[in-house]
Amino acid sequence: MADIPPRVRHDVLARDRRCVASILWPHVCRDAFGNVHPPTHLTKMELDHVRENPAMGETATSIPEHLVTLCHFAHQTSHWATRNRPVLRRYLDLCDGLRAPSVAAIRSLRRMVWP
Ligand SMILES: [Zn+2]
Repeated sequence: MADIPPRVRHDVLARDRRCVASILWPHVCRDAFGNVHPPTHLTKMELDHVRENPAMGETATSIPEHLVTLCHFAHQTSHWATRNRPVLRRYLDLCDGLRAPSVAAIRSLRRMVWP
C-alpha cells in the first residue's frame, strides 16, 4: 500500500471520525489481532484507498478524496471493502471537501451494500 502522509491521515480521520463501514453494515470492529474496539477508536483505524476510476492506474493517490476510514476487519479480514467499492466511491462523492456526509446520507447508501 502507498504511504499516506501523516497530515492526510489526520484529515481523513477527522472527516470520517469512525469506521465508515460501521454505519453501513452491522459488524464488530476489530484490529489486525482480532481484538474488538469501538468504531470510533481512531488510532486503530486503517485508511483504504478507493480508486476514482477502477480501470485506471494501479492505486489511488494518497489524498483525502481517495481514502476512507475502516477498521482492519472491514478493510481486510472480511473483504467487505473489496465487495463494496461502489459504496465507498459513492461515500467519497458525497463528502464535501473535508466534511463527511450526514449520517442520514450515509445510511441512504445501505441499499447498495453487499453484506
Ligand atoms: Zn469496523
